[in-house]
Amino acid sequence: GAKAEGRRTYRFFVPSMDASAKARLAMEQDLRQAMVNGGFELHYQPLVNLRTSEVSGCEALLRWRHPERGMVSPAEFIPVAEDTGLINELGDWVLRTACSEAASWPSHVRLAVNVSPVQLKCETLALKIAGALAASGLDPCRLELEITEAVLIRDDEAALAILHQLRSIGVRIALDDFGTGYSSLSYLKRFPFDKIKIDRCFVADIAETSGAPVIVQAVVNIASASDMTTVAEGVETEAQREMLRNLGCTEMQGYLFSAPKAASEVRKLFGPSSPRVAAVA
Ligand code: C2E
Ligand code: MG
Ligand code: MG
Ligand code: MG
Repeated sequence: GAKAEGRRTYRFFVPSMDASAKARLAMEQDLRQAMVNGGFELHYQPLVNLRTSEVSGCEALLRWRHPERGMVSPAEFIPVAEDTGLINELGDWVLRTACSEAASWPSHVRLAVNVSPVQLKCETLALKIAGALAASGLDPCRLELEITEAVLIRDDEAALAILHQLRSIGVRIALDDFGTGYSSLSYLKRFPFDKIKIDRCFVADIAETSGAPVIVQAVVNIASASDMTTVAEGVETEAQREMLRNLGCTEMQGYLFSAPKAASEVRKLFGPSSPRVAAVA
């Protein structure tokens, strides 16, 4: 009956909740420790212009070197950092570290940094970003902030106001993982993005089926009609690259060109900083 059901639920459900709550608490403590002990590092993955084949930017991707578990994926620890509010402090570290690294790159190489929806709730975010730019000497137009559409789905007016503030200090805004979650084209109207990052799920079979390129083509068309550029994520094969080039996608990112690498390694992939042949529009 209902009582037995309830008891069974209690017996089997609560202990496992408890275990996962404990695991999260342990991770939170480990994350705080890593903040103090320098347990984080940034890797950088190039973005490549599809017409010129030149490296046009790099995305900073957070890595956590755990003392016992080795490298822990950001997919695992970012949600915990978001729930506990630690993402604000961690995000500040990412911004300052990445901006000072990118300040020594050739000036045509942009820096992309992921910004969590939680960070976008912080009213001082624009001030912090302006601070990181000033401290590093990085030109604001070389910084591109990647945000996910979660912030638009929640119809978060405060977050949108912060995005407008960020735009006014001269940084660029990219919409990350476009097409995943509860994506709708109407979100593109709520904020004028500079760039759309097409999620790798749309890139995966682009060169194999007849249906997939239609979606990428539609996004590319919408983007160019609204003065936005496009980048395809997760490009792993030459066939995908060729298809994306033909579809008019602006940039690509993926293992085909390079996996995320340590700062000292990624530098080797930059072309000569000057003189540079201007790309034909
Ligand atoms: P994202 O921003 O969409 O980053 C792209 C992810 O795809 C990265 O995973 C990257 O390593 C992976 N990737 C790149 N090329 C390929 C490819 O050709 N094939 C495949 N299968 N995967 C590829 P990563 O580094 O594990 O990061 C996962 C997510 O964690 C990121 O997704 C981003 O949402 C989040 N993240 C990473 N660093 C930060 C950060 O500093 N702050 C915040 N808030 N989130 C971050
Ligand atoms: Mg990203
Ligand atoms: Mg992405
Ligand atoms: Mg992604």
